[in-house]
Amino acid sequence: MDGQTTTPQMVHLKECPKCGRSNLADARYCEGCGANIKDVEAKIAAPEKKKGLLAKLFGRES
Ligand SMILES: [Zn+2]
Repeated sequence: MDGQTTTPQMVHLKECPKCGRSNLADARYCEGCGANIKDVEAKIAAPEKKKGLLAKLFGRES
């Protein structure tokens, strides 16, 4: 345990409400348009596995 391990799957991002660009969680301004995003809630960027799974299930059911 050296504390240097990075987990690429768990990336917190802030999505700019103006241009939709993904910024770092601690960013105050959007890198794309410069909008103030310090109040935007950071969320974990995750692959859309659930969506695909649901679509599969619904596709089979119907
Ligand atoms: Zn932006």
